[in-house]
Amino acid sequence: PVRVRFAPSPTGPLHIGGVRTALFNYLFAKKNNGVFYVRIEDTDQNRFVPGAEAYIMEALEWLGIAPDETVGKNEKFGPYRQSERKALYKQYADQLLRSGWAYYAFDTAEDLDQLRKNAEETGKTFIYNHSVREQLDNSLTVSAEKVAERIANGEEYVIRFKTPVNETLHLKDIIRGEIKFDTNLLDDKVLFKSDGMPTYHLANIVDDHLMETSHVIRGEEWLPSLPLHELLYKAFGWEAPEFAHLPLILKPVGNGKLSKRDGDKLGFPVFPLDWTDPVSGEKSSGYREKGFFPEAVVNFLALLGWNDGTDQELFSLDELVQKFDLNRVHKAGAKFDPEKNKWFNQHYLKLQSNASLAEKFLPILAEKGITADKTYVTKVVSLVKERATFVTDFYELSDFFFTAPTAYDEKAAKNWKEETPHLMQELISVLENIGDFTSLNIETVVKDWMTKNEIGMGKVMQPFRLSLVGALKGPHLFDIVEMLGKEETIKRLQQAIS
Ligand code: GLU
Repeated sequence: PVRVRFAPSPTGPLHIGGVRTALFNYLFAKKNNGVFYVRIEDTDQNRFVPGAEAYIMEALEWLGIAPDETVGKNEKFGPYRQSERKALYKQYADQLLRSGWAYYAFDTAEDLDQLRKNAEETGKTFIYNHSVREQLDNSLTVSAEKVAERIANGEEYVIRFKTPVNETLHLKDIIRGEIKFDTNLLDDKVLFKSDGMPTYHLANIVDDHLMETSHVIRGEEWLPSLPLHELLYKAFGWEAPEFAHLPLILKPVGNGKLSKRDGDKLGFPVFPLDWTDPVSGEKSSGYREKGFFPEAVVNFLALLGWNDGTDQELFSLDELVQKFDLNRVHKAGAKFDPEKNKWFNQHYLKLQSNASLAEKFLPILAEKGITADKTYVTKVVSLVKERATFVTDFYELSDFFFTAPTAYDEKAAKNWKEETPHLMQELISVLENIGDFTSLNIETVVKDWMTKNEIGMGKVMQPFRLSLVGALKGPHLFDIVEMLGKEETIKRLQQAIS
């Protein structure tokens, strides 16, 4: 059975790249009638940030991709927070010590600095490999009694993985195919620290095994860890899950990985939700608060590294579940396109009912001190939504439906000629006599009057619009007239000519 996980470390707000990883896991699980679970990898206490875990959960809920199992929810193989599993990892480190796959190492930061320096001087990159471990104090070079004594005396130690020498690994990745890897290029990574905490590598492999993970789907930045992870499965004698490393998300302009700074520079969020750093107070903006619909975010994230083989770009979450295929994920980095993301939002905005958009617009109006009837607001929305990308665009597009103009656009004022006040006065009389004050009828009557009197269209229509709206913008003029009603329309015309 398919069981996949998203395993974030709660070191800050979830980056949009992390959300993409969660989404692809979710889609793969649902497509295969499997389970999507979230495990919190919080063993690195120095990097723990309060609020980050709650943020991650809220973001996934908002996007509609909440896990089937996680902290406090169906904890089948719980606990799902690694800090609460602390007691469990030592026995696995011990197992590797006993089987000869790991060793105690007493190297200090100074030792390592020295070795790094030596390597640099001879023009090599430092690798903590077998030749290094042969030179240092550890349970491979020091007698068992001495090791026991030093540990008993409270000397600092770590448990390191004993990487095999001169082996070629044949690694498999669903997206990248076969990858060959020479074990001599691997460091003897730390698995366990003397503070009693496992490192990421040990805890991650132990938990993926115990939680019966079938596939590991994660970002490309973890590809360099794959050789060690495969070796750890071998060392434990466990069957490894299948791996898929998702392509990098690239900056919109230039090369390289998308970073927070790109977002700040170009004015788009790289986080799903707003976030305030609990220590520095620094604020970062999120897609939700920018007015994006979760459906739009899911849609644009799904296309970062995946497509269904056609030109289709618009996918609902259900459709993504049906069509998602790991074999169609590409290796090449995927460019992030903030402008295109807005296009997706526009699409999902149009799909919303006018009533539900009005529901979202009403509080914005209330903030401006405007109380309006919901039916009226719903009609306003129907007239302006074509031009909106976000609900927050509505006010700018429709303010004249709620308040009379207090100023007139200067550039448009050239349409206001000497004869205009007189024409507007006549228009008022025409409007006063209309019984059925609906858009089409008003338009017919007004146009008949213009034709009969041989008055050019532009002479009436533009000043008319300017009087009602304050600028030459807005939807069909006679729709505005109907919405405002006879009394308000005439009032605004009088105001304009006075
Ligand atoms: N805790 C790791 C992270 O922060 C998980 C990496 C993995 O999926 O193996 O991304």
